[in-house]
Amino acid sequence: MKTYPLIATAAAGIESLVNNELKNLGYHTQVENGRVRFEGTAKDIAKTNIQLRTADRIKIIFGEFNAKSFESLFDQTYALPWEEVLPLNAEFPVSGKSIKSQLHSVPNVQRIVKKAIAKKMMDYYHRKNPLSETGSLYPIEVAILKDHVLLTIDTSGSSMFKRGYRTEKGGAPLKENMAAALVMLTTWYPDRPLYDPTCGSGTILIEAAMIGHNIAPGLNRSFAAESWDNLHPEVWSEVRQEAKAAINHDIELDILGTDIDGRMIEIAKRNAEAAGVGNSIEFKQMQLSDFRTDKEFGILICNPPYGDRLLDQEEVEALYQQMGKVYNQMPTWSKYILSSHEGFETFYGEKATKKRKLYNGALKVDFYQYWGKKK
Ligand code: SAH
Repeated sequence: MKTYPLIATAAAGIESLVNNELKNLGYHTQVENGRVRFEGTAKDIAKTNIQLRTADRIKIIFGEFNAKSFESLFDQTYALPWEEVLPLNAEFPVSGKSIKSQLHSVPNVQRIVKKAIAKKMMDYYHRKNPLSETGSLYPIEVAILKDHVLLTIDTSGSSMFKRGYRTEKGGAPLKENMAAALVMLTTWYPDRPLYDPTCGSGTILIEAAMIGHNIAPGLNRSFAAESWDNLHPEVWSEVRQEAKAAINHDIELDILGTDIDGRMIEIAKRNAEAAGVGNSIEFKQMQLSDFRTDKEFGILICNPPYGDRLLDQEEVEALYQQMGKVYNQMPTWSKYILSSHEGFETFYGEKATKKRKLYNGALKVDFYQYWGKKK
C-alpha cells in the first residue's frame, strides 16, 4: 500500500496529546502549531480517524511549495497528480486560509486552486465541459503561511469530535475531543473513582468511560475517505472489526455525574446509552454543594459555568466558593477544573498546584489542577 504524508490537526494547546496518541499507535511524528505530522497508508488513515480521541481531522498533505503570485500558485497546483486521488466525478470544495503572505485574498486563493485542479482533471480526462462533481466528497484545503502553501485533502469529512453519540447537548457543551483531552491530562486510571459535579450532557464522563472500555471514538460514524475508491475502501471495515475486538466490556468503572439540572441528567443518560457506556456511569440530579463521599483517591473533573454563557458573574463566583469548601473536605482526591474566570483561585480559596492553558472553542481557559495526596 502507498504511504502518504499526513497531518492530524489539533486545537491549540493539545498538540502534545495528539502526538502521544499517535506515538502510542506506533507512528513517527513531528509536532507543529495546531497539527502533528506523520506518515501512513490508507489503512493508517482509517485507523487514526477511528482511534484518535483528541485530534480534529486527518488530512493528506498533497502538495507543499512556496508561491508569491497567482500564476505560481496555479502552476504548482496544476502540476500535482490530482488524478491519482480524485475520480472524474469527485466533489471537491476548496476552503482556504492565508496568514502573513503576499497572496492574502482567501477567496482568490481558493478560486485559483479550484481552477487549477479542475483544469488538470479536464486535461487528464480530455474533457471540454465543466466537471459534474456529483461523486464522493474530497474536501480540499489551501493554507498559506508566510508564502508557504500547504495543500491538503481532508479524509475525515466532519470533524472527529463528532462521535455521533451526542444527540442532545446543553447550553455550553464541551467538544468531545476536548473532553477526552481533559481526561487524558489527569491522573485518572480506570481503577479510580471519577466524578463530574457539573456534568451537563455527560461528555467528560462518557469520554472517560470509552477510554476505560477501550471503545474507539470513531467506531460509530462515517468519514469522507470511506467512499474514496482510490484509497482501498475495504480497509475501513477491517479497522472497525479490529477496534470492536479490542473493546473491554468486563472492566468495572466507578464513574458518577451530577448536575443541578434534571433535564441535563436525562440527556446525559441517553448520550451515555448511545455511546455504549450506559451501564458504566451513574448520573443523578444534585447541586454540587450537597456532594459527600467516603471514597478516597478519586479524580474530579469538571467544566462548571464560567460566568459568560450560563450564569452571571456573582452566581459563578459563589459557585466557585462552594466548590472550594466542599472539595477541601476531600484531601485525597485530585480535582481538575476548567474555567475562563481569571479570579477562579481566589473564589475557590486555594492556589492550584498547576494550571494549563487551553482553548474551549475560541475561548481562552485554564485547567486548574489541585493534586490530591499520594496513595
Ligand atoms: N461539560 C458539560 C457542560 C457543563 S455546563 C457538557 O459537555 O455538556 C455547566 C453545567 O453546570 C450545567 O449543566 C449546569 O446545569 C450545571 N450547574 C450549574 N450550577 C450548578 C450547581 N450549583 N450544582 C451542580 N451543577 C450546576
